[in-house]
Amino acid sequence: MKNSARYRGRFAPTPSGPLHFGSLVAALGSYLDARAANGQWLVRIEDIDPPRCPEGAASTILRQLETFGLEWDEEVMWQHARGDAYQHALDRLIQLDLAYPCSCSRKQWQGFDIYPGWCRNSICDANKPVAWRLRSDLGERPILWQDRLFGEQQFDPAELGDVVLKRKDGLWAYQLAVVVDDADQQITDVVRGLDLLDNTPWQRQLQSALQLSQPRYLHLPLVVTAEGQKLSKQNLAPALVEDEQEVRQQLFQALEALDQTPPQELASEPPATQLHWAVANWSLARLRPTAHRLTPSLRSAGD
Ligand code: GLU
Repeated sequence: MKNSARYRGRFAPTPSGPLHFGSLVAALGSYLDARAANGQWLVRIEDIDPPRCPEGAASTILRQLETFGLEWDEEVMWQHARGDAYQHALDRLIQLDLAYPCSCSRKQWQGFDIYPGWCRNSICDANKPVAWRLRSDLGERPILWQDRLFGEQQFDPAELGDVVLKRKDGLWAYQLAVVVDDADQQITDVVRGLDLLDNTPWQRQLQSALQLSQPRYLHLPLVVTAEGQKLSKQNLAPALVEDEQEVRQQLFQALEALDQTPPQELASEPPATQLHWAVANWSLARLRPTAHRLTPSLRSAGD
């Protein structure tokens, strides 16, 4: 389906900790792409997995976005409050015979690369709790799409297996939640880190199963440490530093990470001035599809 609608982008952090430099680059890329297109930019807090989300992390993220001048439109969407919408989508998939309950444990299929679909036609063990999975052997195959930076992408859902939509513990899975929310928020453009590129096939598959409109995708090259390691919460990337001078430096470096070649004098300017320049000069053509390697000085900024 085509996106003739007005641009609507979003930043959708999981509040498992404060934003680090890599997440600033993702937020900034998505913000600039939206604003340069005269579009709207929304924030969605992906807090569907409470054990992974320490208290206060979401408000820290929102404060960090404000500190860096990344102002969003509309009210923040919170995934913890969206259970009814996810259930509705799951019910629809069940009705279409595309989702099924599965009692198998990971241990049972440990010799296989992907879950072999044993419960597709009947539950293996009716006394055990069940997860809900999406059938990957039916529907559109292969699935194709264009990433705005990484070009044509193609996959066969059957090679990826039957993704979990709802977990045995009753928690919703990311793939279903993100697709339902992107549709309900009428997102036309998903701009996010390259680490999520390999999740996109499942999301395309779900959008097509639920007959939802499909956003365009732009995956941004990752930021890696001087040693080449991905900057992530798991790798203990330091939180952004919220001191006024450091904010200016980090924002400037985030523009550089997006290959936007900002003029050096911008580095000491407040966020509003930097963003004003960056929106007016945003160029996807400048962005290279290679990881951005940090200089050691920035990496130690939050130590
Ligand atoms: N919540 C995901 C994360 O923080 C991002 C989801 C998305 O942008 O689609 O990694």
